[in-house]
Amino acid sequence: MKNKETRLNIALQKSGRLSEKSFELLSKCGLELAQGKRSLICRSQELPVDVLLLRDDDVPTFVSEGVCDIGIVGQNVLLEETLGTKEGENLETVMELGFSGCRLSIALPKEKEYNSLEDIKGCKLATTYPKILQNFLDKNKINAMAVKMEGSVEIAPSLGLADGICDIVSSGATLEAHGLVEVEKIFQSQAVLVGRKNMSVEKRAILVTILERIKGVRAAAK
Ligand code: ATP
Ligand code: ZN
Repeated sequence: MKNKETRLNIALQKSGRLSEKSFELLSKCGLELAQGKRSLICRSQELPVDVLLLRDDDVPTFVSEGVCDIGIVGQNVLLEETLGTKEGENLETVMELGFSGCRLSIALPKEKEYNSLEDIKGCKLATTYPKILQNFLDKNKINAMAVKMEGSVEIAPSLGLADGICDIVSSGATLEAHGLVEVEKIFQSQAVLVGRKNMSVEKRAILVTILERIKGVRAAAK
């Protein structure tokens, strides 16, 4: 009986701020996914690779559970999903990819006076990243509370749900539109290739081929 071919499974964001650059990177590595016809699973003809398209938040779980071998995700999501969990022990950052850069910051209503972190003591901060925020507050010995929200975090202060927020900032335009001012940067993020630590020799060989191609693509872009 013929052995089943070993294929490397890659988890990518289906659509969002990571997906275009992720598809572009794979395509430059010779792994073409048909545009417009992307189903949840795409097979590459050129290398033994299958791509699964997911919500970005599910990428770390799919890799740590072994459904996928590697994935592309923002460091912000990777850290939030793995801080203080067993999941993180199975995972490693294989490569920093240098795209989808953004920062996680604390922002307060512009009328609130801010001089130092002491000023957020006792505040409620709405965030999609309660673990990263709590970790930051604990490290700085600031007693404040993270209130978890799945989205539209920036409206929380004006609705009286929170005193401020902790959210992803890139240009700052969203904050300004909601009367908020960035007061502390707590985490700088970019897209990374995350992998499972215990991969078979066969899978690792496919990964090495992909990593060499990525290095080639990035060297050519310089
Ligand atoms: P999904 O539907 O897959 O759950 P999402 O809405 O949670 O997607 P996106 O807004 O597509 O997520 O952002 C994906 C990642 O892109 C973020 O986690 C972050 O790492 C990065 N990113 C870069 N710039 C920004 C930005 N301006 N706003 C939000 N995320 C950004
Ligand atoms: Zn998401």
